[in-house]
Amino acid sequence: EHCLNVCTAASCLSSGAEEVKKGLTTAVKEKGLREKCRIRGAGCMGLCSSGPLVALDPEDVLYQHVGVDDVPEIVESLDTQPVPRLLCDTTIPFFQRQKKIVLENSGRIDPERIEDYIAVGGYRSLARVLTEMDPDEVVQEIVNSGLRGRGGAGYPTGLKWGTVAKATGAEKYVICNADEGDPGAFMDRAVLESDPHRVLEGMTIAAYAVGATQGYIYVRAEYPLAIKRLRQAIKQAQRLGLQGDRIYETPFRFTVDIRLGAGAFVCGEETALIASIEGGRGLPRPRPPYPANHGLWGCPTLINNVETFANVAAILREGAGWFSSIGTEKSKGTKVFSLAGPLSRYGLIEVPMGISLREIVFDIAGGLPDGKSFKAVQTGGPSGGCIPARHLDTSVDYESLRELGAIMGSGGMIVMDESSNMVDVARFFMEFCMTESCGKCVPCRVGTYQMHTLLDRIYNRQGTKRDLELLSELCEVVRETSLCGLGQTAPNPVNSTLRYFRDEYEERLVSDG
Ligand code: SF4
Repeated sequence: EHCLNVCTAASCLSSGAEEVKKGLTTAVKEKGLREKCRIRGAGCMGLCSSGPLVALDPEDVLYQHVGVDDVPEIVESLDTQPVPRLLCDTTIPFFQRQKKIVLENSGRIDPERIEDYIAVGGYRSLARVLTEMDPDEVVQEIVNSGLRGRGGAGYPTGLKWGTVAKATGAEKYVICNADEGDPGAFMDRAVLESDPHRVLEGMTIAAYAVGATQGYIYVRAEYPLAIKRLRQAIKQAQRLGLQGDRIYETPFRFTVDIRLGAGAFVCGEETALIASIEGGRGLPRPRPPYPANHGLWGCPTLINNVETFANVAAILREGAGWFSSIGTEKSKGTKVFSLAGPLSRYGLIEVPMGISLREIVFDIAGGLPDGKSFKAVQTGGPSGGCIPARHLDTSVDYESLRELGAIMGSGGMIVMDESSNMVDVARFFMEFCMTESCGKCVPCRVGTYQMHTLLDRIYNRQGTKRDLELLSELCEVVRETSLCGLGQTAPNPVNSTLRYFRDEYEERLVSDG
């Protein structure tokens, strides 16, 4: 009758969710309530700042900051009133202002059981696609939905699928890019830990649409829980005939394997990722040719990121018209963000495109605690930019963020208060790019080092006006001449902080004489 869902995603696990789950399981057993109450590990419930979280179904009760000591009271109260002191108010904007598509099952199903995914309609879109639709109809549906790549650049997903579908090659591949590496970003990890079958279903539909028979998930080795759940999910799907030969008794066959990244940020760049899967060093190469025509082992290859694939089954289930009715004219659907920084509430959120940054920071996240004042929000990680308070009413969509010198990126959102120094922020991201530069091309290898040196000098009040000019010039050169996205976008945090917080640079300069 009851089900206690314990969040077992990485954030709640790190604050003791596993012990709470064990405690609940033992207590329910000892009280002879096993028939009446199921204890289930569930995925991320979003409000990581209040973890460990436990949800009671079907009552729709959410308990926060649950410790092992709270277990007896929770079990005692199963047939009476919920425990008031543990209640999390679910009427707050954090829950009410979100719109969940990618995270619709997150926190509601056990990610380790395929039966749970199937029980909420999982794999039904795949069944319909394989038995009722031609591959080109599937591509057209994705085109009509307006879905754009959630990995950062926002390239139209349907267009990419169409290119791979039309390309010819001895073999075709589908790759899921799960090499999430931006500092402060954990959206893809949460999706893989919370609903891995959703990603597999999206990949399988994509494979049917483009004509691929082999898929790879390239996931960073630093995500052991996501890897474990993916491995389980693949095995379960194989057991039920949802991978391998003759899926749903059709001639279609598709198999997914996992490849682990070894910690290089640049391997999130698609050509470097392909080189890494092929067994080589993860180095980018010039494009064109694009992977859609010349990808893994020279064959046409579709690469999308985790969140992009996680949208696919819902689009096929509800229709392209439904999906495109959400969001703005050019940015359809929702976006998952990981919210970090000095906020009253932080964690994982999914919001409709077009929502304002102000709503995210001040309504959903509840603003900054302890009277601190907002200074900037950084989106897009080391490729992104810092947006100041005066632009908080900007709509969250690909174009608007780009106009401000930031980018949507994959979804990391870091809020900063007045104690943050923006030269230091730019220096932090530049150090990241300098360390992660693969060294293949000179502008990035040498340029990021030189820009970091200049930023360091300015931050330490040793830089001159000429150093600041040099920094600006280098930003242009590195952006224009680097080989891949890492170098091309490395200057973005410097450019955006120079644009909005130039006084913080200038007040640290010493005179040239
Ligand atoms: Fe490597 Fe940087 Fe050049 Fe990209 S831009 S190929 S990361 S050196």
